Amino acid sequence: MSFASLGLAPALLDAVAAIGYATPTAIQAAAVPAALQGRDVLGAAQTGSGKTAAFALPMLHALLARQGTRRGLHGLVLVPTRELAAQVGDAIRALVQHLPSTIKVSIAFGGVSINPQMMALRGGTDIIVATPGRLLDLARHNAIKLDGVATLVLDEADKLLDMGFADEIAEILALLPARRQNLFFSATFPTAVQSLAASLLQEPVRAQVDNDAAHEPDIAQRAIEVDAPRRLQLLKHLIREHGWKQVLVFTATKYASEHVADKLRRNDVAAEAFHGDFSQGARTGVLADFRAGRLHVLVATDVAARGIDIAQLPVVVNFDLPRAAADYTHRIGRTGRAGASGSAISFVTPDAEAHFRLIEKRQGLRVPRERIAGFEPVEADTESLTGAPAADPNGGIKGKRKSKKDKLREAAAKQPA
Ligand code: AMP
Repeated sequence: MSFASLGLAPALLDAVAAIGYATPTAIQAAAVPAALQGRDVLGAAQTGSGKTAAFALPMLHALLARQGTRRGLHGLVLVPTRELAAQVGDAIRALVQHLPSTIKVSIAFGGVSINPQMMALRGGTDIIVATPGRLLDLARHNAIKLDGVATLVLDEADKLLDMGFADEIAEILALLPARRQNLFFSATFPTAVQSLAASLLQEPVRAQVDNDAAHEPDIAQRAIEVDAPRRLQLLKHLIREHGWKQVLVFTATKYASEHVADKLRRNDVAAEAFHGDFSQGARTGVLADFRAGRLHVLVATDVAARGIDIAQLPVVVNFDLPRAAADYTHRIGRTGRAGASGSAISFVTPDAEAHFRLIEKRQGLRVPRERIAGFEPVEADTESLTGAPAADPNGGIKGKRKSKKDKLREAAAKQPA
C-alpha cells in the first residue's frame, strides 16, 4: 500500500514525502479513500495510529481542489484538550507548509484570553482545530461562522464525552449545515460514544484497525506488585537501573503528581509535575524540556497528559492505576507510536489488585504479575492469593479505609528526604 494508491492530489503526495511518511498507516489506508469520496467515516483508532493525517489529508485534498472558488471555513476539528488542539493544528500546518496553495489553519482552546484567537480569525480560516467550549464562545462573538462547514471531525470522541462536552457538541451540531461530511474517531466505544456516532454518521465506512493485531502498537505491558509506600523507591530503582531518559509517570491526583516529582528531584532525577493547574505557558515549557531531554520524568494526571505526543516515548509508568479501564488504553497509547516499541508498567498494590483485574477484563488483557527483588509486597495481601478482600492491618471497618492522600502522606513520611 502506498500513499499514491489512496487517490490524493500530487501536491499532497509531495507533502507527505517531505515530512517523511513513507507508507500509510492502517487507519490512513482505511479512512483516506472513503473520506475522499465524501463518505462519513467511523474510525476506531488510538493516539499513535496516524489518525490525524487520516482526517487531515482528505480535508486538504478538498481545499486544494476548491482553491480560487469558494472561501470560508471548510473543516472543523473538535478535540478534547488544548494540548491536542495544538498538536493536531501543528500536524496539519506541517503538511500545509509543503503545499503550493495558502491554506489557513487556526487553533482555538479555552483557558487563555479569547482576544488573540478572535484577532487571528479575522479574514476567515480554512480549517479550525478547537475545543468545544471555546469554539462556541467564538461563534457567539461572531468571530467564526459555522454554517458553511463541509467536514466535521470529532477527534478522540470518547475523551470529548468523558470530559463532559456532550452539551457543547450538541450546540455546535445545531450551528452546522445539515449536509456535511462527518469523520468520527475514537479509541474506545462505550455506549455513549456509540449513540453519538449513530446520531451523527450517515452510512459510515468503518475503519476499525484496532482489531487487527498486526497494526497494534508494539507495547510490552508489565504489572509489578508492590506495596503503596514503596512505589517511589521502586520508581527510582527502575529509572536508575534502566537508565530511562524519558518516562511518563501517571498519578491519580495533582497532589500526587507534585509529590512524586518533588521526591524524584530531591534524588537528583530531572522530574516535573504536569497537571491542569499549570498555565498554558508553563505546560508548553515543561513539554519542550521533556521533548529536548532536559527533563527525564514527567509526572502527569490523566487529563493533563491527554494529547502529549512525543515520538517514540519509550516508557509509561502507572504509579496509580487509572480509575476507568478506558484510560488504561489511553495511557499506554502514549508509548509505542507509529512503529516504535515501548513499555507500559503498572504498579499494582495489594489494594489495587482487584481493580487491575477489572481493567484487564474490560480490555481483554492478561498481564502477568511480577515482583522485583527488594520490593516484594509485605502488606497483608491475602486478596491476591484467595480472592478475598485484604484484611485491614489497622482492624478498620470497610469504607473507613485510609484515603489515598493519607496513604501518600504516610508513604512520604517513610521515605528518606
Ligand atoms: P497520530 O496518531 O495522528 O497522533 O500520529 C502519531 C505519530 O505518527 C505522529 O508523530 C505522526 O507524525 C506519525 N505518523 C502519522 N502517519 C505516519 C505515516 N504514514 N508514517 C510514519 N509516521 C506517521
